[in-house]
Amino acid sequence: MSKYIFVTGGVVSSLGKGLASASIGKLLEARGLKVTILKCDPYLNVDPGTMNPYQHGEVYVTDDGAETDLDLGHYERFTSGKFSKDNNITAGKIYYSVITKERRGDYLGKTVQIIPHITDEIKSCIKKVSKEQDVDVVIVEIGGTVGDIESLPFLEAIRQLRWELGEHYAINIHMTLLPYLKACGEQKTKPTQHSVGTLREIGIQPDILLCRTERTIPQEQREKIALFCNVDVEAVIEAADVKSIYEVPSAYKKEGLDGLILKKLNIKTSERDLKHWEDYVIKRLRHPKHEVNIAVVGKYIQLPDAYKSIYEALVHGGIAADAKVNIVKMDSEELEKGKIDKYFKDISGILVPGGFGSRGIEGKIKAIKFAREKNIPFFGICLGMQLASVEFARYVCGLKTANSTEFDKATKDPVISLLAEQHQVTNLGATMRLGAYPCHLERDTKAFAAYKKEDISERHRHRYEFNNEYREALASKGLIFSGVNIQRDLMEIVEVKGHRWFLGCQFHPEFQSKPDKPHPLFRDFVAAAVSL
Ligand code: GLN
Repeated sequence: MSKYIFVTGGVVSSLGKGLASASIGKLLEARGLKVTILKCDPYLNVDPGTMNPYQHGEVYVTDDGAETDLDLGHYERFTSGKFSKDNNITAGKIYYSVITKERRGDYLGKTVQIIPHITDEIKSCIKKVSKEQDVDVVIVEIGGTVGDIESLPFLEAIRQLRWELGEHYAINIHMTLLPYLKACGEQKTKPTQHSVGTLREIGIQPDILLCRTERTIPQEQREKIALFCNVDVEAVIEAADVKSIYEVPSAYKKEGLDGLILKKLNIKTSERDLKHWEDYVIKRLRHPKHEVNIAVVGKYIQLPDAYKSIYEALVHGGIAADAKVNIVKMDSEELEKGKIDKYFKDISGILVPGGFGSRGIEGKIKAIKFAREKNIPFFGICLGMQLASVEFARYVCGLKTANSTEFDKATKDPVISLLAEQHQVTNLGATMRLGAYPCHLERDTKAFAAYKKEDISERHRHRYEFNNEYREALASKGLIFSGVNIQRDLMEIVEVKGHRWFLGCQFHPEFQSKPDKPHPLFRDFVAAAVSL
């Protein structure tokens, strides 16, 4: 039977519960346990797929085509797990399912209520994951901050689950903040006390407190927190700021967090093995031999979370190349104004990420043209690949008004267009081409050189596709179609002949990159930039 770790957060949002859950997963895997991680989001959207990046940051896509919270990206980057649609529960999904059952008459005349119907649905979704994924430990992260109205049903569900499971089968870890007040030169524990008090009011006593702090917690403060929050002193864990997110597991290790969890859950394991992670990932992150500037040209660059997986995958590529990657975020709308050279003076690689809508498109095309003409390593992802094809059609093949029909429905040369099936789509939620699809690679291409195999599988999230009517025209001028989905004859990867490294892919490779296993395309793109 699986054991459970419930992770909640208090005091403020954005404490990094996702990273904490991922790091706990990493530490438990390092002890040989099989782990899965689940995110519960209290909002009413069925999934984040319809949300603007300004609202929610990146939408992370799983192999089975679920559009999920970006914390699932952290979970997959830190652990060996491959997660599914079941690893992200939202209040919207829960209510949708309960209301569908009510309409079907499944509740047999009963009044349908938050308790027990919503809470039972939450519990059954959590238990389903533990059953189907056959793991030793299920980590359940509850989004939001304790005290919010909307997360209450989730907290009640985990309270009940813990009661049902009994001692040693479930624990609660509560993450809080110890703000430092300069005026008195002290870390304040009161917000933590209040937040634990709020948790206790709804029947949850935390077993472990993960205290976010900018400074070391003095012993007396640890004792004070323990006394007033009703936990052991050893269960007050310092979660200090670290240089890189990949150092979080080691920071917890130093505090003895994994040993404490295992003790509370009564699990015996082998010794912890974090050697490769610390000797390779952390060492290279701390002392890189090289340094490289890579521009990411997008429209959500003010937002650190909008291109989260891309930024992380670039860091992973940097680890492989033993280089510090300085990500230079460029606003594509800004590039539309005037001469472009000045923006790319110290840049050794240009990446154009995915996106939707017409804002900033021409700036991205300008950046792509610059990379192609100046032989600067270029990586286009999803929209970036579509625009690379448009740029090539316009400026190499002379199809001056070439475009994607997403931006110009009446264009004479729709190099990128909708597949017939997408014309029938009326609902926006979960109707894109989503999830993992196979792709066949041509030998003697940059793509093949990276993957070193002919058949790959990559995750998608888009409606538009390369229009095969333009395939021959573009190929005859030197656009290489190095990756194809054979089943449906869809062009998945394009390269420019004779260029140092110019590759666009219709899929999202960033979702499969890990610090200790960089994605081959990110690895080779960063390597090309380092050797420019
Ligand atoms: N807007 C484009 C499409 O829907 C690209 C999507 C993306 O970059 N994820 O096809």
